[in-house]
Amino acid sequence: MLQVNQTINDLVANANADMRRFYGKDGTVVAAAPGRVNLIGEHIDYCDGFVLPLAIERYIVVSAKPNGTSEARLHSSDQPEAIVDLSAPQEISNLKWSNYIRGVVKGFNDLGHEVPGFDACIVSSVPSGGGLSSSAALECALATLFEGLLGIALDIREKALLAQKAEHEFAGVPCGIMDQFASAFGEVDQLIKIDCRTSEPEMLPFSNPDLSIIVANTCVSHDLSDGGYASRRKTTEDGIAIIGKESWREATIEDVFAQKTKMGDITFRRSRHVVSEIQRTMDAVTAFKTGDLSNIGQLMADSHSSLRDDFEVSCEELDFMVEIATALPGVLGARMTGGGFGGSTVTLCETKHAQEVGKTMHERYLAKTGITPVIFATRPAKGAHLIS
Ligand code: ADP
Ligand code: MG
Repeated sequence: MLQVNQTINDLVANANADMRRFYGKDGTVVAAAPGRVNLIGEHIDYCDGFVLPLAIERYIVVSAKPNGTSEARLHSSDQPEAIVDLSAPQEISNLKWSNYIRGVVKGFNDLGHEVPGFDACIVSSVPSGGGLSSSAALECALATLFEGLLGIALDIREKALLAQKAEHEFAGVPCGIMDQFASAFGEVDQLIKIDCRTSEPEMLPFSNPDLSIIVANTCVSHDLSDGGYASRRKTTEDGIAIIGKESWREATIEDVFAQKTKMGDITFRRSRHVVSEIQRTMDAVTAFKTGDLSNIGQLMADSHSSLRDDFEVSCEELDFMVEIATALPGVLGARMTGGGFGGSTVTLCETKHAQEVGKTMHERYLAKTGITPVIFATRPAKGAHLIS
C-alpha cells in the first residue's frame, strides 16, 4: 500500500502545536523545504555530471517566533532541544542535529547577516537517513526561515550553495550540489536537470497524470559521514587525474579503458560508473524531453547495476526492492536513489498500476527481509518557500 503524504497545512499545524507546547506561542514566521528523489544520475553531481532529481511531496516545516535574545532555541521531534548562541562564531557541537543549524547560521554570517534570536519547532515528513535528503531539506528550511526572520530574499542558487557549504563544513559530508539544488529549486510538475559543471538548473515538465513516481524507503539506514561517501568522491578525483583531463565531462569510456592498468581495478570501475552514468542521464533527459520513454527502464536498470557492481554503493535490501519492482506489471523502471548504503529506491510506473505496485513491493519486501518499508507516491513538488 502507498502511504499517504501529509499536507503542508497538517505539518504547519503540528509545528505550531509544538510551538505552543514548548514555547507557549504560535510561530510568526514559517518555512518549508522538501526532500528530493533522483530519477537518474547518481554519485556524479560531484563529478561535473548531469543529475535529474525532483523535489518530493515530503517536507520539513519550521515554525518560529523571534524571542528578543541572541539565542536560537529549537525543538525537533525526539531530538534534544538545540540551543545556539547567535552572537558567537559558529562551531561544531556534540549535538549532531544542531550542526545543521550552526552551519546555516554561519552561512548567513558570512554574507554579513546577523540572525536574530528565535524559538522554533520543526516537524518533518522526510524520513531521516532514508536517502531522500532530509539533511538538505533541513538546511534549506532553516535558510528560508532566516530569510523570513531577516526580511530578505537570497538568490536561490546562493541559498542552495550556502546550504551545501553547511553540509560540508558542519555535517562532514562532502556532497555535490544536487540535494540542496533540488530542495531549493523544486517546482510542481517539473523535474530538475542540473548541469553540475556550471551549477545551472533546467526545468523539465513532468505533468503526464498517467505516470507515477514511487519512492520506497528500505528502512535500512546509512551514515554518509562514516567514510563510504567521502572515499567514493576521492576515488573519482584519482580517476580523472589519471585520465589527465580537466573534467569528467570531457572523459570518454575509451579514456577509462585506456588507463585500466594504471588505475587498478577499483578506480577503473568507479571511473566506468561516472562516464557511463553521465551518458545514461543525458539519454534519460532526451527521453523525457521527447516523451519517448521506451528506453527509460533499461537506463534505470543499467544505472542500478553500475551503482551496485562498479560503484559498490548498493546493498541487499536496495537490490531486492529494485528486483521486486522491476518484475511488476506497469513498471517502466526502478533503481536505487541517493547516496546508497541503504536508503530508498525510485520506481517509475503507470499510474493505474501504482497502488498495486506499492502493495506488492511492501508485501514482498517485508516477507523477504522482515523489515517494514515506507512506500509512497509523489509528484514533483514546490521547493523551499516561506508559508508566512
Ligand atoms: P538523508 O539526508 O539522506 O536523510 P543524512 O544522514 O544526510 O540523511 O541526514 C540525516 C541527519 O539530518 C539526521 O541524522 C539528523 O541529524 C538530521 N535531520 C534530518 N531530519 C531532521 C529533523 N526532522 N530534525 C532534526 N534533525 C534532522
Ligand atoms: Mg543527506
